[in-house]
Amino acid sequence: MLLFEEDALYYSRLFGAAMKMMEKLITRALEAGFDVAGALDCSTIILRSEVREACEKNSCGRYGKSWSCPPGCGSLDECAARIRGYAKGLIVQTVGKLEDEFDGEGMMAAAQHHEQSFRRFSKELRRDYPDMLPCGTGSCSYCDLCSYPDAPCRDPLGASTPMEAFGMMVKDVCQANGIKYYHGKGTITFTGCFLLE
Ligand code: SF4
Repeated sequence: MLLFEEDALYYSRLFGAAMKMMEKLITRALEAGFDVAGALDCSTIILRSEVREACEKNSCGRYGKSWSCPPGCGSLDECAARIRGYAKGLIVQTVGKLEDEFDGEGMMAAAQHHEQSFRRFSKELRRDYPDMLPCGTGSCSYCDLCSYPDAPCRDPLGASTPMEAFGMMVKDVCQANGIKYYHGKGTITFTGCFLLE
C-alpha cells in the first residue's frame, strides 16, 4: 500500500472512531433527559465583550453575587484562556411546550427539568472527563446561598458558569454548530454546553 493510502486509511478510521464516540455521547445526553443534543466544535466559540457588558447591567440580579457570574468567574481574558483549552464539546437543550406566552408554570417546569438533567449529566460526564467545563443556562444554584465573595466556592467541580457569563452569545454558538436556537411558537428552549477536552 502506498504511504498516502495508509495515511488516508488511518485518518478515516480516526475520524470514524471520533464520530462514533460523539454519537454515543449524544445518546447519553438524550437519555439523561435533554430533548436535543449535538456536537460542539469549541473553535467556533467567540467570546464577546458586549455579552459581558450586558451582565454588568445586572438585569438578572446575579452580577457580583456568585462565583459563577462576573466578576467572580474571571475577566473575559481569563475566561478566553479557559475556553481555548478545549477542542470538543456537547451542546444540550431542553425544549418546553407552552400553552401560551403567559404560561409561567410551563416555563418553570421546563427550567427545572433542564437544571436537573444538567446536574445529573454533569456528574456523569465528570467521571469520563475530569477536566470538563460545564457551561450552564443560569447562575449556579448548586448551594442555597453562594459563598461569594467571603469564602471559596464550596464545590468547584459541581458548580457551573452560564454560557453568557463566559461572554458567549448562545444563539451564535448554536447556529455555528447546526443546532436550532428557537424551536417554534409555543416553545421555550434552555441551552447549555459541556466543554469536554
Ligand atoms: S457551587 Fe455553591 S459556592 Fe460554588 S458557585 Fe455554585 S452556588 Fe456558589
